[in-house]
Amino acid sequence: MPLYDIQCVKCENKKEIYCSKYPDDNGIENHITVYCEECDKLTGHEILPSLCSMHPDNMWSGVMTDQGYVTSKSTLKAIEKEKGIEKITSKSELDNLKKKAATIQADQQIQRDEKRKEYVAEKLKGIDIDNTGVYDTPL
Ligand SMILES: [Zn+2]
Repeated sequence: MPLYDIQCVKCENKKEIYCSKYPDDNGIENHITVYCEECDKLTGHEILPSLCSMHPDNMWSGVMTDQGYVTSKSTLKAIEKEKGIEKITSKSELDNLKKKAATIQADQQIQRDEKRKEYVAEKLKGIDIDNTGVYDTPL
């Protein structure tokens, strides 16, 4: 249940109230009528904007990471982005990455085999090998 800060319109006394939904005082925006202890009666209260909650960077004091000593999350993210490091957060991502790596390795092996065949064909061009294993070089 959300907590709202309210302030009495007459005596400016501030307090907090819990409401299941945003208070609506008969169509008057940011206003609610509740009992005021200072005025000792029902009075109008203005709903104050909430103070923003602080989410301090938990690396502010300096943390040794895989990427070295960093003092903020944004610095760590920048370093990881620069190095092309992606964090895997689920099993499916890991499986997809393994499949991708296997496909790339298979393609690279095929390319290496083709280059090897071309190299051997180029080097053996013009060499005749007979059934006895004796060969003649075209010198
Ligand atoms: Zn009051």
